[in-house]
Amino acid sequence: MSTFDYAPAPESRAIVSIDSAYGLFINGKFVPGKTHFPAINPATGEKLSKISQASTADVNKAVSSARNAYQKTWSKMPPAERAKYLYRIARILQERAREFAVLETLDNGKPIRESRDVDIPLVAAHFFYHAGWADKLQYAGCGDNPKPHGVVGAIIPWNFPLLMLAWKIAPALATGNTIVLKPAETTSLTALLFAQVCQQAELPAGVVNILTGDGKVGAALVNHPDVDKIAFTGSTDVGKTIARSVAHSGKSLTLELGGKGANIIFEDAAIDEAVEGIVNGIFFNQGHVCCAGSRLLVQEGIHDEVLDKLKRRMSQIRLGDPMDKNTDIGAINSSEQLAKIKELSAAGIREGGESWSPECALPDKGFWFPPTIFTGVTQAHRIAREEIFGPVLSVLTFRTPQEAMEKANNTPFGLSAGIWSEKGSRILWAAKHLQAGVIWANTFNKFDPTSPFGGYKESGWGREGGRHGLGAYFKGGNHD
Ligand code: NAP
Ligand code: MG
Repeated sequence: MSTFDYAPAPESRAIVSIDSAYGLFINGKFVPGKTHFPAINPATGEKLSKISQASTADVNKAVSSARNAYQKTWSKMPPAERAKYLYRIARILQERAREFAVLETLDNGKPIRESRDVDIPLVAAHFFYHAGWADKLQYAGCGDNPKPHGVVGAIIPWNFPLLMLAWKIAPALATGNTIVLKPAETTSLTALLFAQVCQQAELPAGVVNILTGDGKVGAALVNHPDVDKIAFTGSTDVGKTIARSVAHSGKSLTLELGGKGANIIFEDAAIDEAVEGIVNGIFFNQGHVCCAGSRLLVQEGIHDEVLDKLKRRMSQIRLGDPMDKNTDIGAINSSEQLAKIKELSAAGIREGGESWSPECALPDKGFWFPPTIFTGVTQAHRIAREEIFGPVLSVLTFRTPQEAMEKANNTPFGLSAGIWSEKGSRILWAAKHLQAGVIWANTFNKFDPTSPFGGYKESGWGREGGRHGLGAYFKGGNHD
């Protein structure tokens, strides 16, 4: 049989103009930082730009500009007027969607297919959705006249850079708060382009401030006495540090942390659909997904069939240039993350797991890891317990539905789970028993701004999105 290869289908990067250096976005203006760090394209190692490192003085300036904007402008503005700014931002994001998608892919390493079809449309949807809420907040279930906190400090990770920004900024602004946001060090560029959108939308100065830099900037924001609420998405370790720092400070806190989601395939599932769901659950966004289905639980009777079909499907996954429209798996976001994935995979082999990857050539430059599955995994193995945050799936089996629940819940995390079964009553039974904030049935990794997202146990506190997510941005609202 002759092989069928895809012709290259590269997306052009001409639509984006990347500045040689970026400042900090404070009080509506870009202010040059004193020191810089590079923005890297993880697919090539190419230096894209220079990003400013915010100092403690910059954090103070940004917080006081947010306070000033809150007191003088934003809290006084009629809610319907606030809504107009959010609608304007949403429309500009749609108009400039291709530009944002290309920049996200260059800076993050995720395939253009995902940034174009998932990340950026969801970002615009979050702004549209929250714009709709801005003048209807008395119906959010938080009282007749819910009051914003004031100044929000938001800290986000690198896996969905612009989407995580939208998850923080859209509800904060809709509810009448102002915000200082710190993007992750390795993915600052779309946040800085978003700052330009704020200028284009003529958002009043100081309502949104963006401070780039390392974890010290995040810590300074967390510890700043004039910040009223912290919204953090990131690792469980940093989340715990933040929880300790704000304890007794009176600050409100939401934490969206790590996960080790179980994707459970019952014997009566539609196997071909389930295999697609397994692939989507762990290889979407290179597995850099907090709610990834990183633990596959397969009922014993169908184990061999599922594994055969999964391996065949994995052999068709295309890994490579994220800017190619046919690419399924792009680059690992940073050398640090690649080292972490390699370390945990090596531990998996040492502890007796068996690793399998399809034949796949890794590019010479940049950071890459092949799609991998581990069989022979037990619940005691590190790869069954710790978040790998990469394209690595641990496969476990179960005999009875009860055993599936016990194994699925045997984790310190509680963010996501997937159930695959043709039987509605089994799906409802399992959903009731699973300790996870988000549960998908016969699908996986589906997101919508109207749907609350979040975890419990070590996966965090509070919800983002939907009516439930709004409560976190009010005094005395949910999750205070
Ligand atoms: P991370 O190391 O916790 O970093 C997250 C953010 O916190 C970054 O902006 C980081 O800055 C900053 N930071 C680091 N140390 C800090 C400190 N002491 N105080 C305040 N801020 C600090 O997490 P990551 O490795 O970038 O992201 C991956 C993690 O995020 C995974 O565990 C994943 O599960 C989780 N995640 C969860 C969700 C969710 O919704 N539940 C969504 C996405 C990701 P630097 O970039 O400069 O280090
Ligand atoms: Mg980068």
